[in-house]
Amino acid sequence: MSDYSISAVGHIQSPYKQKFAIPRQPRLVPEAKAKLIFAPDFNREEFVRGIDEFTHIWLLFRFHETADKGYSPMVRPPRLGGNERKGVFATRATFRPNAIGMSAVKLEGIEYKNGQLSLLLAGIDLLDGTPIIDIKPYLPYSDAMLDASAGFADTRPETQMSVEFTPEVTLFIEQQTQYPDLLDFISNVLKQDPRPAYKKQKDGEQSYGMTLYDYNIRWQVNGEHNLVTSIEKS
Ligand code: SAM
Repeated sequence: MSDYSISAVGHIQSPYKQKFAIPRQPRLVPEAKAKLIFAPDFNREEFVRGIDEFTHIWLLFRFHETADKGYSPMVRPPRLGGNERKGVFATRATFRPNAIGMSAVKLEGIEYKNGQLSLLLAGIDLLDGTPIIDIKPYLPYSDAMLDASAGFADTRPETQMSVEFTPEVTLFIEQQTQYPDLLDFISNVLKQDPRPAYKKQKDGEQSYGMTLYDYNIRWQVNGEHNLVTSIEKS
């Protein structure tokens, strides 16, 4: 096998500050906005000229947080409840040879501010700080395969989870004017039911926490019901 050296063209500034609660694929949570910040060698408008003609782009990136943890030839996809094993190349698992990921995301704009070039993105499934190794336009005529089927991952993951907020949490969120989508963002993250498969099998009320932007958020799960019980700035 040949060895290659790859350097990042930029990195992602994302509201997802830890792996837990990030959706398992892009565009499941449309309110997940991010910036792609170009590295100094690529911080020039020429690199992206024409990209605003595309509504969506592919991001190739490195699973940097787990890249040093290795991989196994077989993995347990969460959508099979963690009970069945599939070959790593038959899945989109993060633990894989070369630790390379790919996500098609919405391109909302290009920003050039204080000498820094950035792409404005939505619907991302990437951790804050994720290194981007390439960017390509999404081509519907070729990339969208309407006759494709996808075996054990054929449909968008369905969830029956409901999400409610205590009145205090709702009031706090309404006051966060810099993030007008914050309530829908939290709600759609929780509707994806981010808990690991083995936790879902447990009975009784359970409590969880996550950080989105700089908010620490706690919620309780009871059956298929989520109640957001606290939110505070970290
Ligand atoms: N859409 C990509 C793909 O198919 O290659 C990613 C799919 S992977 C199943 C999505 C998960 O990757 C997220 O739920 C999150 O836990 C994890 N993740 C996102 N960014 C990461 C990073 N930089 N390092 C490690 N794990 C990351």
